[in-house]
Amino acid sequence: MRDKIEVLIDEEKLQSRIKELAKEIKNDYGDEEVVFVSVLKGAIFFTVDLMKDYDGDAIIDVVRVSSYVGENSTGIIELKVPLKEENVKDKNIILVEDIVDTGRTFNYLVDYVKQMNPKSIKTCVMLDKPSRRVVDFKADYVGFSIEDLFVVGYGLDYDENYRNLPYIGYIKN
Ligand code: 5GP
Repeated sequence: MRDKIEVLIDEEKLQSRIKELAKEIKNDYGDEEVVFVSVLKGAIFFTVDLMKDYDGDAIIDVVRVSSYVGENSTGIIELKVPLKEENVKDKNIILVEDIVDTGRTFNYLVDYVKQMNPKSIKTCVMLDKPSRRVVDFKADYVGFSIEDLFVVGYGLDYDENYRNLPYIGYIKN
């Protein structure tokens, strides 16, 4: 199946951008502890690498929502694995996502986290597809802005396949 994939962002470019993002975040938070909240499942790979490159105090937590079926967003977001309020309250939360498309998922998650009274909240995304936005949303940290392509790899799936590719690609027609 891998032979159907065209590389969009190779492993080297991806990893060097993640190192830059980790530095950018560290510069903003200094000695304060941050909580990387990974949005399952897609952001797992990105979150792990970001944390390994993060030279400061950091903890990890996860949240899971479902919003996507095949190639078309249903627009309905369902919370599958919630966060615990004690892990969010008075903490510096950084929500980590694989990709922002319509913006609905992040919009929902930011509101959800805010209800738990964090000390601060920021958003970090590996890929951004600004041309697809339905709701107004801008992430604080963005890995790469890409055109309107359905991408896979490095956590992103097509019907659960391709998540383990170490690069970002798209399916050739
Ligand atoms: P949004 O709520 O911003 O429309 O969508 C966010 C979610 O849609 C992402 O977390 C991801 O699961 C899915 N998604 C959006 N675009 C793509 C894409 O190009 N490839 C894959 N694999 N998933 C996508």
